[in-house]
Amino acid sequence: MRDTSRRTVITGLGAGLAMAAGGACAAPGGRRIGYAIVGLGRYAELIMSKFAECDHARLTALVSGTPEKLARFGETYGVPASHRYSYADFDTIRDNPDVDVVYVILPNALHAEYTVRAARAGKHVMCEKPMAVSSSDCRTMIEACQAAGRKLMIGYRSRFEPYNRLAIDLARKGFVGPTRIVTSDHGFNAQPNQWRLDRALSGGGSLMDIGIYSLNAVRYLTGEQPVEVSAVESTDRNDPRFRTVEDRITFLLRFPSGIEATCVSSYSSGHNIYRVTGTKGWIELEPATAYEGQRMFVHRDGRTEERRLTPSKGQHAGQLDHFAECILNDTRPLVPGEEGLADLRVIEAIYRSAREGRRITLTA
Ligand code: NDP
Repeated sequence: MRDTSRRTVITGLGAGLAMAAGGACAAPGGRRIGYAIVGLGRYAELIMSKFAECDHARLTALVSGTPEKLARFGETYGVPASHRYSYADFDTIRDNPDVDVVYVILPNALHAEYTVRAARAGKHVMCEKPMAVSSSDCRTMIEACQAAGRKLMIGYRSRFEPYNRLAIDLARKGFVGPTRIVTSDHGFNAQPNQWRLDRALSGGGSLMDIGIYSLNAVRYLTGEQPVEVSAVESTDRNDPRFRTVEDRITFLLRFPSGIEATCVSSYSSGHNIYRVTGTKGWIELEPATAYEGQRMFVHRDGRTEERRLTPSKGQHAGQLDHFAECILNDTRPLVPGEEGLADLRVIEAIYRSAREGRRITLTA
């Protein structure tokens, strides 16, 4: 049970922060940036429904290997047949002036190929997390977008979620004193028979899928890059789900200021929580990075308060609008390709540490 002396505080700070992330200024001339969605799976289905909440973004094209989905979602969202593409004719999207952004929502191992093809077709790219299955693929993607003069953003939606933004603000300003420890646990019980459990398509197990939230959160809560990684993996290889990918991986990250983060990534147990502990108290979010339902508790001066924010634009629409505004105003995305690359470099070090049973030092 939590501290019974907790109080509830309602604040508009998160809404203000969300405005800063999602952008408050109007699109010049009211133009809305057109998005093509590539890969019409479960997450794409959610994303497509969020354009209705956007101020600066609209859905203009669909790319899929399943003609039935192209017809069904085309009908639902008013995307004409001329703006529906297969993977084979995807490159002709270069001739479609209604498409400004290609949003890649494919299995992880396909992110690099479609990001590079989109950039070569002259489109800006939003790519889902994990950015790719290796840091070298991430670099190739960044270079392809730079060479094409196009922007690249990674789908780290939590950066547009008001409670996460408030947590970042409080933690980095030292509201509970300088941060000493961060714990961040993410996991769920993976269903069998899906591409996530096939290393060739996923690039890895829980860490590439849900554990990346633990890692990304400790990086954004501290604002620092880890310099040392220690990890332990625990996987039952007799479980048919885990023939080629890991189940649980627990890792410790050390940061330059002395902060330590302990993180869990799991495909066999449910977790969605982080806590930032400073010298004077702590800040906790649970669920921390879910689509909705965040609850925040802040402990300081011997008291625990629940923080409640006034409702604002959701994180998905905030993310879509933010990238649209970056294009309209020629500004840098809050979460560019370099953010995805930074996570992949740490992920590779985590895997290496678990494999070799030793600490790995990360250089800048
Ligand atoms: P799904 O399996 O639901 O969808 C993936 C889609 O990719 C398929 O439906 C299919 O669409 C297309 N596809 C193309 N080639 C293949 C292939 N060889 N095997 C399987 N599918 C293929 O996955 P999700 O939507 O859950 O995940 C997609 C991406 O989005 C992943 O990178 C994941 O990490 C990310 N994601 C991010 C979330 C977030 O909160 N930011 C949440 C969930 C996922 P089609 O039939 O149209 O070709």
